[in-house]
Amino acid sequence: MIDYQNVIDTIHSNLKDEVNRGLVASYIPELANIDVQNFGIHLRLINGETFATGDWNKKLSIQSISKVLTLAMALPMYPKNLWQRVDVEPSGNPFNHLSLLELENGIPRNPLINAGALVIADILVTLLENPKEDFLNYVRSVVDDPTIAFNEDVANSERMTGYNNYAAANLLKAYGNLRNDVDDVLDFYFHQCAIEMTCEQLSKAFFMFANHGSCCLQKRHLSESQAKRINAIMLTCGFYDEAGEFAFEVGLPGKSGVGGGIVALLPNHYTISVWSPGLNMQGNSLLGMRALEQFTSMTRLSIF
Ligand code: GLN
Repeated sequence: MIDYQNVIDTIHSNLKDEVNRGLVASYIPELANIDVQNFGIHLRLINGETFATGDWNKKLSIQSISKVLTLAMALPMYPKNLWQRVDVEPSGNPFNHLSLLELENGIPRNPLINAGALVIADILVTLLENPKEDFLNYVRSVVDDPTIAFNEDVANSERMTGYNNYAAANLLKAYGNLRNDVDDVLDFYFHQCAIEMTCEQLSKAFFMFANHGSCCLQKRHLSESQAKRINAIMLTCGFYDEAGEFAFEVGLPGKSGVGGGIVALLPNHYTISVWSPGLNMQGNSLLGMRALEQFTSMTRLSIF
C-alpha cells in the first residue's frame, strides 16, 4: 500500500524552499501579480479518496488547461468534422507559434496550442446558444461545483495584450477555418482561459479522463474512445515544445497553463494537480514538473 499523503508531503517539503522557481507569466499583466511562493498539490484516486498539501485550496487561473475541457465539450457535439479542422500532431513549437499555421493552410497542428484551441472555441461559439455561460455550466457540472467562475479582470487583461492571439485568429479566419467573428471567438477564448479553480477542483475536472469518460459523479461525458484519444493528445501535445520532456521525466498525459497549474492523470488510477506559478522557458510550471517527476518515481505509477 502506498502512503500517498506521505508521498505528497515529502515532495512538498523537498521543493517548497527551492529558490529557482522560474518566472511568473507577465505578458498577461493580471497574472504578474501572483505570488511565486504558492505551491500546492492535490491527488484524487479513482476510488474517490483524496490527498492534499500546501496551497491546494487557493484559486489559480487555469489558462491553457481549459483547452482540454473545451475539446471534451466540443468532441461529442461535433465528432466527425472536428478532426478535419484541427490535426493531432505535436507542434514542437511554443504555444503561441504561428508559422506552422501558415505552412499548413490554416489547420492547426493540435487542439492544445492556441491556434487549435481557437478553432475549438469557434466550434463551441457556433454550437452553443450562450457560449460562455454554457461552457461554464459544463465545467461546473463536470466538477460538481456551481461556484466555479470566470475572473473578468484576467479576461480583460489578456484581451488588452492579446496581440498574438488576435494574429492567430485572423490567420485562421483568412484560411476559412473560423466561422464566427474574430472578436466573438477571442472573447470566448479569453474567458475560458480566465476560469479559476483550486487544485482540488482541477483534479475533479480531469477525473473523466482517468475514468473512461465518466466524471466524479459517474455521469458519462465522453465515450471511452473519446477519453482515450484526448489522453493521447495530452501526452503528445499537452506541454507544447516540452511534451517530450514531460513524457520522459513524468510519463503521464497532462496539461499545463501559464497560471502555473498542471493536471496529469493515470487512467484507472488517479488525477493529480500541482500549482506553482513560476514558469520555465517553455511556459510550464517549473516546480510543477519537478513535483510530478518525483511523484511518478516514488509511486512507480506512470503509464510506462
Ligand atoms: N491565455 C493564454 C494565452 O492564450 C494561455 C496560454 C497558456 O496557458 N499556455 O496566451
